[in-house]
Amino acid sequence: MPGPLRHLIVVLGDQLDRASSAWDGFDATRDRAWMAEVRDEATHVPSSRQRTSLFLSAMRHFAQELQAEGVPLDHLRMQPQGLGEALARTLAERLPQAVVVTEPGEWRVAELLRRTCEAAGVPLQVREDRHFMASRADFERHVRGRKQLRMEYFYREMRLRHGVLMGGADGSQPDEPAGGQWNFDADNRESFGRDGPGRVPAPRRFQPDALTLAVMADVERAFPSAPGRLRTFGWPVTRGQALSALEDFITHRLRDFGRWQDAMWGGQPWLYHAMLASSLNLKLLNPREVIGAAEQAWRRGDVPLAAAEGFIRQILGWREYVRGVYGLQMPGYLERNALGAQEDLPAFYWSGDTAMRCLADAIGQTLEHGYAHHIQRLMVTGLYALLLGVRPQAVHAWYLAVYVDAVEWVEAPNTLGMSQYADGPGPDGRVQGLGPMASKPYIATGQYIARMSDHCRGCRFDPARRTGERACPFTTLYWDFLDRHRAMLARNPRMGLQVKNLARVEEPEMAAIRARAGALRAGAVPGC
Ligand code: FAD
Ligand code: SF4
Repeated sequence: MPGPLRHLIVVLGDQLDRASSAWDGFDATRDRAWMAEVRDEATHVPSSRQRTSLFLSAMRHFAQELQAEGVPLDHLRMQPQGLGEALARTLAERLPQAVVVTEPGEWRVAELLRRTCEAAGVPLQVREDRHFMASRADFERHVRGRKQLRMEYFYREMRLRHGVLMGGADGSQPDEPAGGQWNFDADNRESFGRDGPGRVPAPRRFQPDALTLAVMADVERAFPSAPGRLRTFGWPVTRGQALSALEDFITHRLRDFGRWQDAMWGGQPWLYHAMLASSLNLKLLNPREVIGAAEQAWRRGDVPLAAAEGFIRQILGWREYVRGVYGLQMPGYLERNALGAQEDLPAFYWSGDTAMRCLADAIGQTLEHGYAHHIQRLMVTGLYALLLGVRPQAVHAWYLAVYVDAVEWVEAPNTLGMSQYADGPGPDGRVQGLGPMASKPYIATGQYIARMSDHCRGCRFDPARRTGERACPFTTLYWDFLDRHRAMLARNPRMGLQVKNLARVEEPEMAAIRARAGALRAGAVPGC
């Protein structure tokens, strides 16, 4: 490259999009791209074999595409040091006039880049991340003046602004929701019933190629104690594969996505889910094309409106919303612990070795595939940790480690906010920051799991019992949770019925519930 280096374009592991803002005005004769595989990113919290392999393989494929295109690139492989140190070394060698990056999703990484460039005396240009359909400023505007966070209102604004699923009941009203209704959630809560899901179309998976196999070998060598297994690895690692996975989902599973979105079944890890979160989060897919494909499928008459709307709400609604929440609440958000939970995460979260069938199934598939669907995360693994009273930071570290789609900006609000209610009101009723992401804690007894799955049929515990040897741990801990947080819950109008039911439990039974909950926390109940 003749002459001085103008821009060093930093491409982070979850920014694998050639159309992202960092590439605006890229000139191969004056600029250079920079990517680094650094040990710290896989070890500052534990990272599963599937997750690390996916990130590294997708990065190496992206680097290969850049090289084929003739983009000058520094690609640092398996660096022993951290991101900041690796970048500082390149800055000292290459002396760029500026570093350019698309706004990192993770607060810690944004800070690291800022500090590294500052220390090296190199200006840092941080450009907006156009991948998202709401900018940070859009979200701030949405939140301003509101007393409570509610995803539903944000989602409606997004539908209107982007003209997604609009047209009213007869298609002629651009300001009204398609079908005359914003939300078809009520149609989307079915379980499979006694007979189970029947034959579910198998999702398209991708055989690891030579590059991915080399990554997997590197990961086994470099991180021998990382959680999870690699034998089933089949995630999309290129944009081409991600587009193929999208087409497969839209053609074969979207039709039934909404209907069975909340249902679970033993030994069935995928059901009707999209399995697109990792491709979206690595930026192999753009949310606009995913939303567009789902809307088109409905407009062609291939899928019902309730299915398309239920799916689009997850991406245009929840995904954008949690990013907004994270952006406005960091850095303090990661420390939230409104319920004062102090227990350790049970060891079986890292092995799946528990007699509780629902947890064994959800954790087992998580370690095997790096995947569990939303209700397994929220209403099985998340619920148990919440009811047990596990420190939210330990729960956060687990979720960040084990899922292939785990990146902090989306994982943290889901875990700390939606699942653990760590951003809710404290014992004095006061809230920090923006207040809770969820209008109430997501709590339930084992009866919820019994209704939504087949797990309880073969379990040694009984979801209807709250005391005694066969009492379902979820059910015992649910009543114990209500008891422990009675005062806070009584202030929440959405918890009225549950608090009223608690008042009907006689004191001797309450004492037995407390004793068994204590035994569960002490690890004194066999198999739990
Ligand atoms: P589907 O169920 O098919 O949904 C379609 C898409 O909608 C997903 O690909 C995802 O992009 C989006 N989506 C759905 N629900 C959410 C949500 N609550 N927040 C943000 N986006 C959503 N999602 C992540 O992408 N990364 C995480 O690290 C993550 N951690 C989570 C931790 C907990 C405790 C919980 C309760 C949820 C978490 N989620 C996370 C959200 C959700 O569970 C996953 O996005 C989803 O299970 C991924 O599988 P899928 O692609 O098959 O999604
Ligand atoms: Fe899970 Fe309880 Fe059902 Fe067993 S009985 S599968 S522990 S909900």
